[in-house]
Amino acid sequence: MQKNSSLSFDTGFFGHPKGLLYLFFAELWERFSFYGMRALLTLYMVNVVFEALSTRDFAAAAVYASYGSLVYASTVVGGKISDTYLGFRKSIFLGGVLMALGHFVLAIQNDIAFFLALGFIVVGNGFFKPNISTFVGSLYKDKDPRKDSGFTIFYMGINIGGWVAPLLCGYLGSTYGWHYGFGLAGFGMLTGLIFFWSGMRAGVFGDRGLPPLKNRLEEKIIGVSRNTWIHILAFLTAPLIAIMLSSYEAIGNGNSFFGDQNIVNIIFKVVGIFIIGYLFYVLYSVTAAERKKLIVAICITIFMTLFWGFHELSGSVITLFASRNVNLTIMDAAQTNSLNSMFIIILALPISYMWTYLNKYKINPRTPYKFGFGLLIAGISFFVLSMSGGAADENGMVPFSYLLMLYFLISIGELFMSPVGLSKITDLSPKRIVAFMMGVWFLSSAYAFQLVGFIGKQLAIESDSSNIGGLESLGTYIGGFDLISKYAIGAGLLVILTAPLLKKLMGDVH
Ligand code: GLN
Repeated sequence: MQKNSSLSFDTGFFGHPKGLLYLFFAELWERFSFYGMRALLTLYMVNVVFEALSTRDFAAAAVYASYGSLVYASTVVGGKISDTYLGFRKSIFLGGVLMALGHFVLAIQNDIAFFLALGFIVVGNGFFKPNISTFVGSLYKDKDPRKDSGFTIFYMGINIGGWVAPLLCGYLGSTYGWHYGFGLAGFGMLTGLIFFWSGMRAGVFGDRGLPPLKNRLEEKIIGVSRNTWIHILAFLTAPLIAIMLSSYEAIGNGNSFFGDQNIVNIIFKVVGIFIIGYLFYVLYSVTAAERKKLIVAICITIFMTLFWGFHELSGSVITLFASRNVNLTIMDAAQTNSLNSMFIIILALPISYMWTYLNKYKINPRTPYKFGFGLLIAGISFFVLSMSGGAADENGMVPFSYLLMLYFLISIGELFMSPVGLSKITDLSPKRIVAFMMGVWFLSSAYAFQLVGFIGKQLAIESDSSNIGGLESLGTYIGGFDLISKYAIGAGLLVILTAPLLKKLMGDVH
């Protein structure tokens, strides 16, 4: 208890608890590995893993989508195991080790190693990502005014990793070979683990993040402690995920309910039906006042899913477009993945000042409007990208400035939605189901990848040669971006139109 209160008054890191310093660097390096690898993933699949297939784009889109969906869905399970058994410290450490292992296995050029590596990263991310975010929150007491800015600093760490990693891993990948790029991602994760470990050694976390019930963790099942079982099962889950990811081909026929779907798509569809069913049950069982707010929480989660569904195309279709149809200067296609994080770093503070400024004059838009504008801006960003077709040269190559504009605009959209959404979910959900709603919020990223997969497959270019590009691919991409922009702008306008109603339902929540 003594330790807890002393920790809350700790101001050793720019007025924040010293623990934040260590978590900041641990997460910075974890995201370094995650985004460094993601910058190479689609290009690696198209040029190496599926190189021999004429349907290589289709396969890459399917695997990218399943990987992304599982990487975010696993956070729900990782969060639950941490809350019930492991606590944050053990979970983060286990997750980091699994992720580092995954990136190193990826450095082996072999199809089995490829899927196994993704399996390790999925499970590792599930233990790491949700728990380090919640750990940050636990460094502060309830209502500590420093908490929001603590999260802003943490979000900066995420994006410093996401900015630098594609530049370095992309450089190593194209200069020395893919595996050096993946290897560097692995070293990044190890560096993150070293930061986390030194934080624990320095005692900056006080007594936070320890297992909730130590006895339960030590309890033996068939002669082996629960703690050991969890670690063994985590490692064994990776090959299971690998099998799911390698079954990327559709198993249903076009006309059935599961038409053109692979095993991961089907799992997400079935689970989605249960989640929707459960949400209806919850809506039915809460009080009328709670119901109103919960409806808004569900709506903003759906809007966020849609936004990530367009945004996360950056690691697949947009990377391929960059490599095939953009006259790149300064950086290569993998390295363009750094642009989103770069703009977030540049724009995060101005936009947060803008909200404060508008607040002073009482014209800070309420959350539903921010979400509507976020989607609208995403739509405009794709509209700009679709306009690049008109500026293409005779080889079907478009100027780099259009890609820069896309990332500039979509990053503004992200800042209108993502940081706002997380805190609104806590405000809008009844206390007893807030953890469940947090899980649903994380699942919004998982379901977004199902949309990414759908779009990616539509924009897949079938060709006997892996040397696709120029005029062969330009029309497909431009047509696709045009359609995406129409859907996103339409969705944004619809949200803005319904905002007055949602605003009313939110009551006192801003
Ligand atoms: N870029 C953020 C991160 O990596 C959010 C990504 C997401 O939720 N899809 O943490």
